[in-house]
Amino acid sequence: MPPDFDMKLTHYKKIRSTIPQTVHLVVVSKMRPPAQIQMLYDAGQRAFGENRPQEMKAKFEVLPQDIEWHFIGHLQTNKIKYIAPFVSLIHSVDSFSLLKEINRYAEKNNRIISCLLQFFIAQETTKYGLSWEECEEMLSSAVFYTLKNVKIVGIMGMATFTDNRALIRSEFQKLYHYFEQLKSGYFSHQPDFKEISMGMSDDYDIAIDEGSTIVRIGSAIFKPS
Ligand SMILES: *Cc1c(COP(=O)(O)O)cnc(C)c1O
Repeated sequence: MPPDFDMKLTHYKKIRSTIPQTVHLVVVSKMRPPAQIQMLYDAGQRAFGENRPQEMKAKFEVLPQDIEWHFIGHLQTNKIKYIAPFVSLIHSVDSFSLLKEINRYAEKNNRIISCLLQFFIAQETTKYGLSWEECEEMLSSAVFYTLKNVKIVGIMGMATFTDNRALIRSEFQKLYHYFEQLKSGYFSHQPDFKEISMGMSDDYDIAIDEGSTIVRIGSAIFKPS
């Protein structure tokens, strides 16, 4: 086995051991070859995150069937078809129209697809996500309650790309606050509404401190050492 493969597992094992059992680790495998995913699978990892529909489908087809595939990037409606048959959780519902289309494809595939609502919490214009107002508008619409093939199980957000850890922490606190507001306001009778997907390689420690239930970690696991 090439030595860099051993080192990658070293990062994985170290990170795995520092994350509390109650927090779900999604290994972000975008742009990584199937052989590396298989190595992590053999080490016990089951949840992987991808941000391109065709790439995710291609990997799904060659890797073990019990992998949980998480879609974490901006999803174009014309590409839902590639992932609808097998995706485990879509983290990145950033518009009502996208949610309606996911529902349509889920119905075609005779599935109920779990989704997270992605919120815009960063001080950047490049990140996707709903505002609080857009989210409330969606949840107040009668159409939302007719969507039977999607299940909203929580929320997701990305912090600003910065060294300012206090800013990152405040953004995660904001996301946690949104979660609590939604839980008590709109999802109080839905025990499945319980996930907060926040935290990546550089900020997952802060995210876990602030109540994350799912972390999405890529580069810290695959980096050479
Ligand atoms: C790439 C990506 C990640 C992982 O980022 P790393 O810094 O490599 O850990 C997490 N979430 C999303 C939405 C991503 O696009």
